Amino acid sequence: MLFENWKENLEPLIDKYKGRKHPLHYNNTYQLLIMVILSAQDSDANINNITIPFFEKYSNLESISNSNIEEITPYFTKVKNYPTKTTWIFEIAKLLKTDNNIPINLIDLVALKGIGRKSANVILRETNQKTEGIIVDLHVIRVAPRIGLTPKYEDGNKIEKLLMQQLPYEIWNEIGMAFSFLGREICRPTNPKCNDCPINIHCNYFKNLNQ
Ligand code: SF4
Repeated sequence: MLFENWKENLEPLIDKYKGRKHPLHYNNTYQLLIMVILSAQDSDANINNITIPFFEKYSNLESISNSNIEEITPYFTKVKNYPTKTTWIFEIAKLLKTDNNIPINLIDLVALKGIGRKSANVILRETNQKTEGIIVDLHVIRVAPRIGLTPKYEDGNKIEKLLMQQLPYEIWNEIGMAFSFLGREICRPTNPKCNDCPINIHCNYFKNLNQ
């Protein structure tokens, strides 16, 4: 398939979700960094909720680095895998010291504990930095193979690599979140609402349904 074709085929999807606010309710890069670490294997809604009192007390990395793990842990006990995530957050605060030192490129972001390529791509996109990859979360891992863009893999990095080979760079920044929103709202794990999907005529799953 030519690059141009996918750009055109996926345009209705990008148009549908362009400008949609990220589901994590962050106010600055510091909050986004903390929230993406906490949200791994947890729900965005839970993280939005539990971080309200945390950010009231800890408004930047410096305030965390001046605290200790025992003091910050109680804020995160409702988060999946919270002991490890709390340790990562504390270690990052100690390492970076201030919010100004939060990296703005993929290599330096993924060097931080608890930040994988998905989280790094989210941070780069949300802070308007140079696009270096495609956001691949659990929804994209389901949606991309259904469309026929990739084989089925559980490893998001594999899916990302294949998407980066298939899709033109101009749409990398938008398409990951667009697939993610599609997966959250329409392309659900069971009974996807294909008739409501703006790219159904280009989707293998849909084509197979109608054969
Ligand atoms: S047509 Fe159906 S299976 Fe294909 S992407 Fe849209 S909702 Fe998902």
